[in-house]
Amino acid sequence: MNATAAVAAAVVPAAGRGERLGPGAPKALRELGGVPLLVHAVRALVRSRAVGLVVVAAPVDGVAEVSALLDGHGLEGKDIRVVAGGATRQESVRLGLAAIPAEVGIVLVHDAARPLVPVEVVDAVASAVRAGAGAVVPAVPLADTVKRVEPVPGGPEPVLDTPDRATLRAVQTPQGFRRETLAEVHARALAEETAGDAGALPPVTDDAGLVERFGGRVVVVPGHEEAFKVTRPLDLVLAEAVLARRRASDAY
Ligand code: C5P
Repeated sequence: MNATAAVAAAVVPAAGRGERLGPGAPKALRELGGVPLLVHAVRALVRSRAVGLVVVAAPVDGVAEVSALLDGHGLEGKDIRVVAGGATRQESVRLGLAAIPAEVGIVLVHDAARPLVPVEVVDAVASAVRAGAGAVVPAVPLADTVKRVEPVPGGPEPVLDTPDRATLRAVQTPQGFRRETLAEVHARALAEETAGDAGALPPVTDDAGLVERFGGRVVVVPGHEEAFKVTRPLDLVLAEAVLARRRASDAY
């Protein structure tokens, strides 16, 4: 393997509106401690020596704004590229992946909405791919019991069953892949969509889910409670508290 193939590139899908967070700017541009979520997420990735390139998939009408934003936050000297994202997270990842040079052999996919992922998690995911896994996800055990229900808008919803909590994991990002594995499942998913075959299957909400759909093997490595996704207003409050604690305890 040559030196470039050993270094990972990261795709950051950041083209979502983030409507569950309430009205305002696209989620990736909301601020946490005075810095946009996206900048935190990109900083977390480039802090890892495993990552040599970051490709951000920005809202279609926000490429120039996102490029300017990344320029202004001390990320100079890092190889960061901005491309237009798509209508779905899956499309945004596919477009980001297409912008990665062919010789890069390991690709991480990281949500802009997970600004506080510790560098140890990024390193662990990249190492597991380097050690031979085709698809790797960081995950944590669940605190809550989970029930499967028959969805009824407004409820009450009948419970179908209760999976054994000991076998469940909440999955985070960055997820790591051998480049060919990720490119192949995205190409197959696009072909399915184009042929109109995907409708009957449950929606795939992460990249590892696509690997599973096409019969590939995915392994889990330990995630971290601070790699949580900022989705709802309360998540921002929690993220502000984590950031304040980090800033107080080291030169974060
Ligand atoms: O909506 P959700 O929280 O699952 O979004 C996860 C990530 O996917 C976010 O970083 C969001 O910006 C991104 N996304 C995207 N393109 C879309 C929709 C979501 O890049 N069309």
